[in-house]
Amino acid sequence: MSEAPEITSARRILFVHAHPDDETIGTGATMARYAAAGAHVTLVTCTLGEEGEIHVPALSGLAANQADQLGGYRIAELDAACAALGVRDHRFLGGAGRFRDSGMMGLPTNDHPRAFWRADLDFAAGLLLDVIREVRPQVLVTYDPNGFYGHPDHIQAHRVAMRAVELAGEIAPSKVYWTAVPRRVIESGMKAFAESSDNPFAGIDNADDLPFGSPDEEIAAEVDGRKFAEAKFAAVQAHATQIPPTNWLFTMAGSFGGDFMGMEYYRLAVGEKGPGNGPYGWEDDLFAGLDVPATAPLSA
Ligand SMILES: [Zn+2]
Repeated sequence: MSEAPEITSARRILFVHAHPDDETIGTGATMARYAAAGAHVTLVTCTLGEEGEIHVPALSGLAANQADQLGGYRIAELDAACAALGVRDHRFLGGAGRFRDSGMMGLPTNDHPRAFWRADLDFAAGLLLDVIREVRPQVLVTYDPNGFYGHPDHIQAHRVAMRAVELAGEIAPSKVYWTAVPRRVIESGMKAFAESSDNPFAGIDNADDLPFGSPDEEIAAEVDGRKFAEAKFAAVQAHATQIPPTNWLFTMAGSFGGDFMGMEYYRLAVGEKGPGNGPYGWEDDLFAGLDVPATAPLSA
């Protein structure tokens, strides 16, 4: 979390995420691809992720119900992840520690005085608006109204980002995307893992039972970041307290490699879809249709 670098790129893209590690798991290949192409990539993380489980036994004493030091520790993990992704402009919403990880829905941690879930919407959106004013991104990426999978901080990140876009008026980003996974991709994952001992879909018979998964026609963009699958993999490893080597993510990466790690999908929430490919006209570039030159050629 060094000082934000000077903004010199024509293309500027802002990612709004809830906790450290969400940027990597959800959008890591996209961030790495745009950073490598010379775009100005800004990451705003809304909380420190204080309520995360700790998968490094030697660090278990940092837990929220013990020393309560996990959040501070995760700043360093996020720094390392950003370095792996080539992302130099990273901020915490309102500064590190302003908002606390709210924990899973319905837990008492939702009511902590600094819980992000409880944050005043316009106040938090105003903090994000400050970043939008400074960076002037043409593209903003966040979650859908369900926060992709229902975590209160993800839902709140969505609300704050959408409110900030509304407040931004004429300086609002031209396009806003929500992270997505095509149902088809989930179904092929379920098939591939059906016989596996660490099946991440164990107990789920139907992709429709998951809180995420979009029909192909609702997807607007497929970003091919397979070239950056290794960078994303390194960023995943940087979040060691959260993602142990036994995590299914590593199994998926081992089995499917770049296809799983590198292909990322988005729905378009605000703005006009640019030219695309295939039966549904999927964009392969989140700046598609915008009149902003790429500073360096975007190669997949
Ligand atoms: Zn999260």
